[in-house]
Amino acid sequence: MIATDLRGAVERLGDMIAEASVIVPFTGAGISTESGIPDFRSPGGLWSRNQPIPFEAFVARQDARDEAWRRRFAMQSTFGAARPSRGHRALASLYRAGKIPAVVTQNIDNLHQASGFAEHDVVELHGNTTYARCIGCGKRHELEWVKACWERTHHAPCCTSCDEPVKTATISFGQAMPEQQMHRAGDLAQSCDLFLAIGSSLVVWPAAGFPVLAKKCGAKLVIINNEPTDQDHLADLVIRYDIGEILGPFVGN
Ligand code: NAD
Repeated sequence: MIATDLRGAVERLGDMIAEASVIVPFTGAGISTESGIPDFRSPGGLWSRNQPIPFEAFVARQDARDEAWRRRFAMQSTFGAARPSRGHRALASLYRAGKIPAVVTQNIDNLHQASGFAEHDVVELHGNTTYARCIGCGKRHELEWVKACWERTHHAPCCTSCDEPVKTATISFGQAMPEQQMHRAGDLAQSCDLFLAIGSSLVVWPAAGFPVLAKKCGAKLVIINNEPTDQDHLADLVIRYDIGEILGPFVGN
């Protein structure tokens, strides 16, 4: 069913939330556009400006690593200033109320944690861009350290422990998905009775498989996205309105 008016959509969603015992949200870049972080595929989104750098190129070439870090630092004022949107805050309210056990996200911006989710209840499928890791030994490095090295040498640095390249703690195209998070997301999708896909074009796989899995396992599926997705036909409710307008009424104390 496609919601035809905003008020009706909020009411219908409210009923489904009230009826559900376990709600699992699955979020994409669209929940963070209100926070000032552009998504990938909208006009003016990140992909219209830069093609992503595949993992293989990052590993193989210093110039690819330099470019990846140049782009990351260019985005720092945006990521640094971002605060949770109404969508993030509504989900955090439902989490505090015990309706949501954890959030599954494709986002890398740390805004679910900033909105009040405990770190271990944010299942990050594509990692986190607010810190870095060595791709060899996995040691965590802070962005301030990377920036200081960058400013001194004009190159992306290598790890202080093992001398392998240091990369934002994100999953790039061509890089293996994080096993533990994939597993946990699968468990959550299979054990909820309401699955909310919010602000995702649902074209990035394997992440886009989770709404399908939840539906197959008996959950009701709601898709909130301002443009159609390939999975709309599977959903019990499709809401093509602004996420902040739809989820704003669910922001609690
Ligand atoms: P996407 O860019 O493919 O899709 C975002 C969808 O959200 C689009 O369909 C867009 O129309 C919709 N949207 C944007 N703002 C909206 C709003 N206010 N209300 C309703 N709908 C809105 O993003 P994706 O599906 O998450 O996949 C892209 C990949 O890019 C992800 O894997 C993620 O890792 C990465 N990414 C993350 C961030 C972030 O962390 N904030 C930002 C850009 C890209």
